[in-house]
Amino acid sequence: MSTTVDEYMMHQEAGTKKPCQSCKWQIADPTNPLRGQCTVNRNKMGGVWKRWVTDVNTMTCAKHEEGKLSFREHV
Ligand code: SF4
Repeated sequence: MSTTVDEYMMHQEAGTKKPCQSCKWQIADPTNPLRGQCTVNRNKMGGVWKRWVTDVNTMTCAKHEEGKLSFREHV
């Protein structure tokens, strides 16, 4: 099975086993448990380009897997 580009974009997937919620790239929003921010993207200058996760339990993307396999680069 090949991985399409779309799988690397954040998308909604009901019942996903890899929700943003358990992804190392996700930062929880202290004011809303459903919401969070995805920090996987960086711009050319190395700054983190955050994206809002509207529902951390059903949103996912293929980078979730990379997060598990690689070490945390930003400490
Ligand atoms: S990398 Fe993917 S799974 Fe992880 S928080 Fe971002 S959008 Fe969600």
